[in-house]
This record gives sequence, C-alpha cells and structure tokens, in this order.
Amino acid sequence: MKNSKIQNLRVYLGEISDLLHVQALLGWDQQVCMPPSGSEARGHQFATLAGIEHQRWTSPKLEKLLNAAEQETAGLDPESDEASLVRVTRRLQRKRTQVNPAWVSEFARVTAMAQDAWVEARAASNFAHFEPHLAGVIELRRDYAEFFAPFQHVYDPLLDDFEPGMKTSEVQSIFKTLRAEQVKLIKAIAAKPQVDERFLQQRFPIARQDKFGRQVVRRMGYDLKNGRIDISAHPFTTTIGRGDVRFTTQVNISDLSTCLFGNMHEAGHALYDLGIPSSLARTPLAEGASMAFHESQSRLWENLVGRSLPFWKFQYPRLQKAFPMQLGGVSLDAFYRGINLVEPSLIRVASDEATYNLHIMLRLELEIALMEGKLKVNELPEAWNARMQDYLGITPPDDARGVLQDIHWSAGSFGYFPTYALGNLVSVQLWEAMRKSIADIEEQIAQGEYAGLLGWMRENVHRHGAKYEPQRLVRRITGRPIDPAPYLNYLKTKYGAIYNL
Ligand code: ZN
Repeated sequence: MKNSKIQNLRVYLGEISDLLHVQALLGWDQQVCMPPSGSEARGHQFATLAGIEHQRWTSPKLEKLLNAAEQETAGLDPESDEASLVRVTRRLQRKRTQVNPAWVSEFARVTAMAQDAWVEARAASNFAHFEPHLAGVIELRRDYAEFFAPFQHVYDPLLDDFEPGMKTSEVQSIFKTLRAEQVKLIKAIAAKPQVDERFLQQRFPIARQDKFGRQVVRRMGYDLKNGRIDISAHPFTTTIGRGDVRFTTQVNISDLSTCLFGNMHEAGHALYDLGIPSSLARTPLAEGASMAFHESQSRLWENLVGRSLPFWKFQYPRLQKAFPMQLGGVSLDAFYRGINLVEPSLIRVASDEATYNLHIMLRLELEIALMEGKLKVNELPEAWNARMQDYLGITPPDDARGVLQDIHWSAGSFGYFPTYALGNLVSVQLWEAMRKSIADIEEQIAQGEYAGLLGWMRENVHRHGAKYEPQRLVRRITGRPIDPAPYLNYLKTKYGAIYNL
C-alpha cells in the first residue's frame, strides 16, 4: 500500500486483531476441548490478553497513528477501504478510551460473580438469589452509559455497542408496529386447528443426523478447508483468523430440528465472516456490520431457506432416504407444515418464527425500564410474567422457565437482545432485494443450488465487512431503513397458507 501512514496504522491494528483471535481460539477450546479443571488458568489467560488488548486500544501510540492517518486520508472517498478503516478505528478507540479502566475491572468482577449466582438461581428457580447481583450489574451499566453522556436515552450507549449508530427510539418505533401485528397473528393461528408434528417426535440416530447436517452446510458453501464443526453445549460460531471460521453444533436423538436448523444458522454466521475480503483482514473492518446484520445471515439460512418449501423439494427425498423408518410415510407437505408449527413457548430459544420476536420485545421493554429506574429489580419476575401472558397467552410456572432463562443479563449484556429481532427483519428485507435481482432464486433453491444466493450476499453484504453502520447498509442495499413491514408480510403469507388464515 502506497499510503505509509495508513500502512503504519494497519500494522498496529494487525497486532490487536491477532490478540483478539487468540482469545477466540482460547474461547473455542474452552467450549470444545478443555478439561474441567482448566477453567481457572484459562480465566487468567483471558484476563491477561484482554488487558493487553485494552492497553493497545487506549495507548498514546494509537492516538498518534490515527492522527497521522486521518490527515493522510482526509481527501479520500469516505467509502474507500482506507477512509473507512480510519473512521471505524477512531470510533472504537474513542469508545474504549471514554470508559474508566477501574470500571472495566469492576465490571469483570461483578459479572463473573453474577454469572455463578445466575447458574445457581436458575437451578433452584430462585430469583431472590440472583436479585442483588443483577442490581449490581444494572448499576454498573448505568455508570457505563454515563461515560458517553450526553445521550438521548440512557439505553443508547448500550445499544450502540451492538448496533453502531442506532438509537433506542428507532428500535422502539419499529417494535411498536411489530408487536401489535404479531400478537394479532398469533391469536389468529391459535384459533385454527394445530398442524401435526408427531412424526418429529421419534428417534433419529445421531450419526445420520450429523451426516445430513454436514451435507446441507457443504451445499450452502461451507467448506471444511476453512473451518471445523464440533460439538458444544451451546452452539456458536467463532472466527480464529482468515480462512479459519469454526462453528459448533448439538445433535439430539429425539429432535431432528436441533442439529439441522442449528447447523444452517451457524453456517450462515460462518459464511458471512468467510465472505469478508482479504483486503480487510486483520483490521477492525473484518467483522460483520453489526449483530443484527450477523443474525440476518444466520436467520436467512435457517428460516427463509431452511424452513421453506423450495428447500425441502430438493432435500426432503434425501432426508427420507436417511430416515426411511421415521419419514418414509410422511409427505413433503406434512413435513413442511410440521417443521413450521407455531406454538407459544415459555423459552425463547425454543420458540418458532411467528412468536420469537415477542420474546425479544418483552426483554427490551424490561431492560429499558430497569435502566430508566422505572422498574425495580425485585419487581422483575412479576413484570416478566405479566408480559408473557399479554403477548403469548402463557404464564411461566416458575422463574427458571421465566425471568431466569437467559444468560445475557448475568453477563451484563444489556442492549444485545433487540439485535435478534432486528436480524429477523433485515433478513426478509435482504431476501426481497435479492429476489428483485435473481428472479428464479426459489427455483434455484428447489434444485439444491445455493450459489446464487451466497454470491448475492457476498456481493451486497459480506464484501463490505464493517465499513457501514447497519442502518446505512440496509438503506444502501434496499433503499429503506430497517423496516418491520416486509417481515410482517412474510409471516402473514407463510402462516396464512399453513394455517388457512
Ligand atoms: Zn445467531
């Protein structure tokens, strides 16, 4: 590269990127291979590396490198790799330096204890045990927001960590439309006869499920030359470096969906990271645009492809061949309806496409109320249960299956939940934009051909890495900001046909 100041900055950022990826490798190892007694030593290793990474982000050397690179790139096209690199790096550097280092170590200490307490509280279904820890986490999250004052809303700085540039008010207005319409849809579905999914409640041998799941992701374009698939308690995808993006899976003998749709979801994440060009490697641009964008890719493969009729036109005869005893007598149409059953569930991660977003909205509303101080921590279980009844028509029998079900709050991840629902919305917006340029995309999928889809995503989404903020990127591709209407239309059309609404 001819610009020498940018080159100096890239060398420095390359080392930060290496530190990050070494942490990712340690994290992968912890979930996949590490023996149980290794956890204390691993904790020290994480703390050491995270400390070095933080020093690098906040050092005067980076400030100097950035100043010089800003001068050098001043006249460049703001969308160029160079100008984008400087802009995004400056943003991250500012965020890191605005936070007091004493807060960082206090937050690590409090959330480590809160996570232990959450595990115990959930096992005993005892919210009171978790309550003081959660109160401490929320207090620290409020202090965190204050580092970024002034803001429109106390939740904005938290959301911004996951969705750069997005405001709480934007999310609230999107969710307002979504909530009313989704609640209406679920009520309409509940009034209709339920679809039959008993054929899914059989035993499906593990080895065959694994083989089928691998076949599907290979066809999607996920190649083991660039990754690995292993087993872990909670499936996840992680980038170890360029050309090494791994994911994990779960295979459940009595549930075909876990491995199959889990694989498609995680491979969707992995293909995003693998599609980021080498020119952005080892820089902060070698990431997805935001968490919602990442989730748009995983959801698109899992739901818009994996739970669609065209996909199964090709794959179902193969699945039947793998499980002739279990599925030989089940028609394609019955199978398609069965995997798309809608049923309000207590548990977010077990919920279907039509109800999923309501779980998210409930959490967002509670997070905002807690951050604003309008809801006290001891009132949380009651507020949770009341909303479950309002939105989904069910009340959790205990807190383990209610307010204590997710790890996020104990880890201090406030601001993360909305990205799941936003990802669903973006997935359909991207799908519609793609369908305009690839008119026969559904026929391609019905032939088992996914290269057209992947190619479009690479060209329109993956290629840009983290150059654009999420709202900007959605607009660039679809001409609109994040918008609930296409998703609602998609749900109404799909479930209207399945449930004869
Ligand atoms: Zn995901």
